[in-house]
Amino acid sequence: MRKIKLNLNAIRRWLALFIFIVSIIAITNLVDKLPGTEISIAEIFRLQFVPALMAGSAVILLVLIIGTLIFGRIYCSLICPLGILQDLIDRINRLKIIKRNSFQNIKLKKANRGYNPALNKTRYSVLVLTVVLFLSGSSFLILMLDPYSNFGRLNASFVSPVIAVINNFLASIFNMFDNYYFVKGEYHLPGITAALFSVTVLGIIVYMVRKGGRLWCNSVCPVGTLLGLISRWSILKIRIDNSDCISCNMCVKECKCQCIDSETNRIDHSRCVTCFNCIDNCSTEAISFSYRRKKKQDG
Ligand code: SF4
Ligand code: SF4
Ligand code: SF4
Repeated sequence: MRKIKLNLNAIRRWLALFIFIVSIIAITNLVDKLPGTEISIAEIFRLQFVPALMAGSAVILLVLIIGTLIFGRIYCSLICPLGILQDLIDRINRLKIIKRNSFQNIKLKKANRGYNPALNKTRYSVLVLTVVLFLSGSSFLILMLDPYSNFGRLNASFVSPVIAVINNFLASIFNMFDNYYFVKGEYHLPGITAALFSVTVLGIIVYMVRKGGRLWCNSVCPVGTLLGLISRWSILKIRIDNSDCISCNMCVKECKCQCIDSETNRIDHSRCVTCFNCIDNCSTEAISFSYRRKKKQDG
């Protein structure tokens, strides 16, 4: 019987893109409800870690924690729009147009990353400081570093004004023919402080993506650090079977978290965001997303 092989990475990418687009729609208030349903798009907010924490949504937090205990940091590669944005920046950065004017010849350059040790002092200091300030009544740092708030600020600064201009342009054309599907609305450009903050955050993120893939996620973001601690105990993990490994290092080069140590074939699961890039790039199927260790596997 023909064996059907699931391409986990392709499924994850399409789902992530869908969630990314819905997040933009939710944040920019482009559409109120999911088409054909009464489900409010704003409900998407509730699935995010910090908004759920601020709203005291224990059920959502529990779902996210249990999800991490089962699948590892899948939240970071599937649900968090700031994480998906970093992957998009990385892909744009690696676009290679082999021959102009032919979309079939647009390819991605190999990432060519290597292993880097974890920046534990930095990431745990940021996490501790954020938690201490939050518990003592200050939400300042958590809101400054919250991925969803930052994604919202980037949208407010760069996406919402563009959407408003397009909407008003379409409204002026449609209204000439007595069609009022589009209605002109006022739009406000972000204030100088908000715009400068967004430009700075975007600049830092682009720099960090270029320097080391998900470096922001594994050195700055307190949500990522917290989920990383939980994912050390996840049931399903990316594992390497040493007996099938030919040490080609393709997985190491394509790992956006730089968390596969080629010397020992060990994976730092606190930094792995369960993106499946390594599985996709292993020609011998030595890597799996699995529950049990086979003999001679990593932890
Ligand atoms: S580490 Fe933070 S910013 Fe990165 S994907 Fe996870 S939650 Fe989002
Ligand atoms: S890609 Fe596969 S074979 Fe190559 S080093 Fe990684 S685990 Fe080993
Ligand atoms: S170890 Fe594999 S799944 Fe984890 S971040 Fe690296 S490439 Fe992605």
